[in-house]
Amino acid sequence: MTRLLLLGGDGIGPELVEATRAVLTAADDGFDLGLQFETAVIGFDALATEGSTIPDAVIDKARAADGIVLGPVSHNAYPPVSEGGLNPSGLLRKTLDLYANVRPARTFEGYPPPCGQPFDLVIFRENTEGFYADRNMASGTGEVRPDPDMVLALRKVTRKASARIARAAFAHAATRPARHVTAVHKANVLRESDGLFLEEVRRVAAGYPDVTYDEVLVDAMAALLVRSPDRYDVIVTTNMFGDILSDLAAELSGSLGLAASLNAGTDHAMAQAQHGSAPDLAGRDIANPASLILSAAMLLDWLSEKGHGADFAAAARAVEQAVRSSLKDPVTRTPDLSGTAGTRAMAGAISEAVLRAGQSERA
Ligand code: ATP
Repeated sequence: MTRLLLLGGDGIGPELVEATRAVLTAADDGFDLGLQFETAVIGFDALATEGSTIPDAVIDKARAADGIVLGPVSHNAYPPVSEGGLNPSGLLRKTLDLYANVRPARTFEGYPPPCGQPFDLVIFRENTEGFYADRNMASGTGEVRPDPDMVLALRKVTRKASARIARAAFAHAATRPARHVTAVHKANVLRESDGLFLEEVRRVAAGYPDVTYDEVLVDAMAALLVRSPDRYDVIVTTNMFGDILSDLAAELSGSLGLAASLNAGTDHAMAQAQHGSAPDLAGRDIANPASLILSAAMLLDWLSEKGHGADFAAAARAVEQAVRSSLKDPVTRTPDLSGTAGTRAMAGAISEAVLRAGQSERA
């Protein structure tokens, strides 16, 4: 039995989690995975009933689960922490030590990319420190206000976190056809912090003679990604640079609605779309569920690597293939990709294809 905790979130979150649950249920039925779903309320709904956007009991459930699926949350609109407005995403990443935020960006055959060229890259974003004030201190916040007209933001870069995100990036690159890693940094200005980050990445690179390696400044990288995203394979970078570049790369691939990600640690992993809660789309059955469905496929792969069985990896491939097929036809893709399907209809088409794939594999 593999226990998955589903957290609905805010805005389009509940719709996306429901769509993802439908696909995971089909994967469970088709591939006999033995999934057990548990749900818990977070976000504004939890604030209203429990006084916190992520009650302690939810964190305990997350710790006990084998994997987590987190719907987008509207944490920018939450009240201050003192009034219960905690960022569930940042808190779970920190509490469960989900140090690697793995963010693929790729084009899909059948849906022509707006940038005109096919590409397939993956960003390994350090997830526990950097400029992110909600997680870079043992307690309190990494932003301080010594006087009303001045704020200091602290950026934390450690050898340990830099080395482990680099190891994750190189280990993954070694499995890909292009076997190339690009470190993205701003060490010409942030000499000490990005200098330390690069030292650790170079140390890890030295242990992978079969993986080629280069380094690019983050500002140049923004331009180079727009110009030729197909030049890149695996990108490893610090927290904020990875956050920004991955949205850019996702949009180049067609839509933020295709942007999957996994927050992975040693013992825990959490599937989470790259985008936010898109309040403009909430409750209208038009949000693209592919981002969270593909994130759940990454979680199935991670569970397979952690010993839950080869069927999990097979199910992940079937989910990816089903998403690819649904993107080919306007009738089974959402309006952000100039399609006509609603969130539920797209998830339904993907679920049916996953179930069929599982049944034919086991026939
Ligand atoms: P938040 O404050 O939670 O970050 P936001 O709307 O400011 O929400 P995002 O949710 O990241 O930021 O989305 C920006 C825009 O991208 C949305 O307004 C929406 O138009 C588009 N978008 C995001 N996610 C999806 C999706 N799953 N399907 C279709 N369009 C999406």
